[in-house]
Amino acid sequence: MKKKNFTSTALHSDREGKPEHGVLHKPIHTSVAFAYEDARELAEVFQKKKFGYAYGRQNNPTIEALAQKITKMEQGLATVLFATGMAAIGSTLLALLRRGDHIVSSTYLFGNTNSLFNTFKELGVEVTFVDATDSKNVATAIQQNTRLVFVETVANPVTQVADLVDIGALCAERKLIYFVDNTMTSPWLFSPVTGQASLVINSLTKYIGGHGNALGGSVTDTGLFDWSAFGNIYDNYKKGDPANWGMNQIRAKGLRDFGASLGPEAAHHLSAGSDTLGLRMDKSCHNAMAIAEFCDAHPKVRKVSYPGLKDHPQHERAKKLFKHFGAILSIELDDSLDCFDFLNALDLVVSSSNLGDNRTLGIPVAHTIFFEMGPERRASMGVADSMVRFSVGIEDTEDLLADFEQALSI
Ligand SMILES: *Cc1c(COP(=O)(O)O)cnc(C)c1O
Repeated sequence: MKKKNFTSTALHSDREGKPEHGVLHKPIHTSVAFAYEDARELAEVFQKKKFGYAYGRQNNPTIEALAQKITKMEQGLATVLFATGMAAIGSTLLALLRRGDHIVSSTYLFGNTNSLFNTFKELGVEVTFVDATDSKNVATAIQQNTRLVFVETVANPVTQVADLVDIGALCAERKLIYFVDNTMTSPWLFSPVTGQASLVINSLTKYIGGHGNALGGSVTDTGLFDWSAFGNIYDNYKKGDPANWGMNQIRAKGLRDFGASLGPEAAHHLSAGSDTLGLRMDKSCHNAMAIAEFCDAHPKVRKVSYPGLKDHPQHERAKKLFKHFGAILSIELDDSLDCFDFLNALDLVVSSSNLGDNRTLGIPVAHTIFFEMGPERRASMGVADSMVRFSVGIEDTEDLLADFEQALSI
């Protein structure tokens, strides 16, 4: 049969194989342990000679169903799920890196990832932050002990778009793991595998879940990286096809040993939410474009950062790579308008820190999510004191524009 498109595939993925009782949604399995009539079979599962479930921290049928759905969305080989996006990033990197290794990371990073990388430095992993909007900066930073390159597709809050394709080519040439955080674009807007990503992380909490009612994270192996050429795989995980070695180690050293497992109830929420990813994203991106254009023309707004605007430094790149320009934008207000007063004046738009919710959320970034890193690091990321970031939701466009209009005219 002809291969189905994105949303059709996602909607029907739980019915593959022999669904229990013909269910349309994979049931929420809460059992922590799994019984085997034949003890030898249990041993085979432990020894990975046979697929099966052993203990809830490592896997469970509800979790596995969502993992397979994400694998399809990312057109990958396999996916491991975690309790949060941060757990996915932290556990995966700790599973793959060793003391004395070096990583090159985009300097435009989610605040907590930035904080995590600073912890890595204390543990003996070198980190070089570069402006990843140009692959040349990444090339210059590569050292003999470099193991991987980490970038976000679109950075938060200034919306810089990484030089995704050229960095992918560079990593392929230098045999480095190319780790792409696809959270801001989601697999609906961009497929990192087309930019030769090795591992793709998604915070499922954001667009994939979409309803702000469950936390989760995923890491997907695209199948492009040659794990047999990677020096950090322990002998225990060099079993079978080398294509699986990376995931063998991430599952054991990352998920099993750190134990930040996704709960089955959360997996159900995330899976149900993911059915409508494409529909929600289309509407959110449409609204974001309308708000960006409105603010761009408004005298009380000094600057708008949104890849959909023609004067955005990576507008052409975003246009070429992404289905739409995303649903995150940030504005810098004119001095005559205080960012807190403006946010308080908004009626429909909620002051909140999350992103990827169905509701439009706004936050004064320098005073909140980017507060801890201090003024110097903020300046290096282009975060101004008056900046407000919006995660645009699926409300009716005219209602959102009316809300911005009244709040900007206080
Ligand atoms: C939110 C976010 C994360 C972390 O995800 P959580 O599920 O909140 O832990 C990582 N990267 C990006 C780009 C994010 O926006």
